[in-house]
This record gives sequence, structure tokens and C-alpha cells, in this order.
Amino acid sequence: MPRPIQATIHTAALRHNLGLARQAAPDAQAWAVVKANAYGHGIERVFEGLRGADGFALLDLGEAERVRALGWRGPILLLEGAFEARDLELCSRLHLWHTVHCDEQIDMLALHKTHEPHRVFLKMNSGMNRLGFAPQRFRSAWTRLNALPQVDEISLMTHFSDADGDKGIAAQMARFEEATRDLPGERSLCNSAATLRHAHQAGVKADWIRPGIALYGSSPDFPAHSAAGWDLKPAMSLHANIMAVQHLQVGDSVGYGSSFVADHAMRIGVVACGYADGYPRICPTGTPVLVDGVRGRTLGRVSMDMLAVDLSAMPAAGVGSQVTLWGQAANGTVLSIDEVAQAAGTVGYELMCALAQRVPVQVA
Ligand code: PLP
Repeated sequence: MPRPIQATIHTAALRHNLGLARQAAPDAQAWAVVKANAYGHGIERVFEGLRGADGFALLDLGEAERVRALGWRGPILLLEGAFEARDLELCSRLHLWHTVHCDEQIDMLALHKTHEPHRVFLKMNSGMNRLGFAPQRFRSAWTRLNALPQVDEISLMTHFSDADGDKGIAAQMARFEEATRDLPGERSLCNSAATLRHAHQAGVKADWIRPGIALYGSSPDFPAHSAAGWDLKPAMSLHANIMAVQHLQVGDSVGYGSSFVADHAMRIGVVACGYADGYPRICPTGTPVLVDGVRGRTLGRVSMDMLAVDLSAMPAAGVGSQVTLWGQAANGTVLSIDEVAQAAGTVGYELMCALAQRVPVQVA
């Protein structure tokens, strides 16, 4: 008997969320960002829901091979580009577009022997200070790339650090604009937050949007907006069943460290989900769950394989009841992964990516 825990990937939700991103930038083409194994969902599992995108953006060659193996013949973009010369051979063979963010990558391209010229996305560091050429060096990088016979098309790209917050994108946008004003090429600027919040603004050129998190149904700017506020639907649900019921008397505690102590008689349910499944151990008492689709809370510390939930106000719940750790319950009620992430002091991205291998996953 398998443990009663299951993750479900919702194909219709992926499709819906991609549609929302497209609506926010109707003139743009859309990369579906599927790096980190599609943010923990599984590239093969999200493919059907996201195949309406214009291309897939991802991180490594292994992921690119997997997307090609699914029969995808359209564009694929390597978001960090090539790390060594032989990566470029694979880029040629798999017809990948790739990011160029540093001089060393231009050097590699210049030495690369190819029959098929490469399409590259030249990245500017407009303020994030991760990858990319500084604005004052961008034009010379472009000129160098443009002179290479190995390159046939150059698109221009940057990444925003604060599209989800008050700081916004204005300063980075201004630097990008100034440094690229008369350069030809398509622009790729907007992640999910920038797509939903800023892509409609005049002056934000968005030939290729790059939404990731929004596709998976998590709000890119929680708690300013909830996922439901954006009309995003969860692409992943994590469910587990109650395996045991315990009756607590006043003064009884729950779990390791006795961090929760009952101040009244209560029933609790023990759920087949723990931190080894990817549920954050740091989630405190009171983290929201759905029990048979009704909002409830966790009690005490999360163990490796189990956690406890309060059943005091749920007389009908018992062994076998379904607990939704995040996502959509059988009755349609949704608990956003963002709320659980908030309780854990992190973001929905991290929880999705941390779903453990041992959790069985079905695609619906
Ligand atoms: N573009 C780049 C270069 C990224 O690194 C990421 C993810 O971090 C994305 C797009 C997608 O971002 P988000 O998931 O916030 O939409």
C-alpha cells in the first residue's frame, strides 16, 4: 500500500495561467519558463498545459533535451547560455537559442565551428547585478557579437529585480532603453510580475515575455496581490490523508518538542505528509490546511513523515479524510501555496521546487 499522499498537476490550470499572461501582454510572444524541472512540477508533466507557449525557456541542456524529446520543434532558450564550448555544439544540434551574458561566452562563440548560425539573447545587467553586461558595455558586446559569422540574430534582454515591489521597473527600464535605443532586435524583459503589473505600460517593450511563477498559479507579488486576485489557478495540489486520530486532554502536547499544548479537549488528525515530502518543517502551529475542503490549521512541529491538524471544529473528519496542504481540494476550495510559503517565511517558488521525489505525482 502506498502512503496516502499525492501531488496533482493541473493541465487546465497551466493553460489558463498561460492565457492570463498572454492577455497581460497581448502583442508579445511568450516563453514558458520551465527551469528547475518546471519549478518542481516536472517538465514532462507540464508540457501539455504549456505547449501553447511560443517557446520554452530553461536552464540546462538536459532540460532542453527533454523538451525536444517531447516532440517540441519550436524555440527553446537557455537562460544562462553555454558554460563550455561543447554546450554550443549541443545548442547547434538541438537548435537552441541561448543567452549571452559575459565576454567569455562571446569568446566561445567566436571559436565555435557551426554550419547553422546561432540566435542569441544578449543580456544586460540593468540593476539586478546577477548576469549581464553593464549598460555602458552593452553596445560593444552587441557590436562584437554582430560581427561574428556564428551569430545570425541578436535579441536584447534584461531581468528586473523589483517588478513585484514598490520600486518597480522604471530605473532598470530607463537604463535598458538608453543603452539599446537604436539597436535592432527583439526585446525580452518581463518575468511574471513585470508581465502582470507593468507590461501594459507605455514604453515597456515586450516582444517576448518570460513568465514562470504565474504559470504555476502562484502570485508573483504576494501578498500585495493573491493568486486569486490575479485569477491564477494552482497548477499543483498536494494532498495527503489522515492516518490516525488522537484525542487530547488539557495539557496534552503534540509532536516533537511539545511545541503545541492543548488548553481544551480536542481531536487531532495525523496526516501522511512531512518535511521529507517537501512540506516545510518550519511551518508553525496555525499554518493553513484544508480538511475535506474546509479551512483548518496545523498543530505542533512538522515531522519527517507526518504532521498534525486540528479537527476540533470538524466532527465529520477522521481517518481517510483528505487534507490539502496546498492547491485545490475535491470540493473546489483553494489554498494558495503562497499562504503556506508565507507561514514558512519563504515564497511559493521554493515550496514547489522542493516537492520530494518520493511523492507520487499524477497529471490531471
Ligand atoms: N527570466 C529569468 C532570466 C529568470 O531567471 C526567471 C526566474 O527567476 C524568469 C524569467 C521567470 O521569473 P518568474 O518565475 O518570477 O516569472
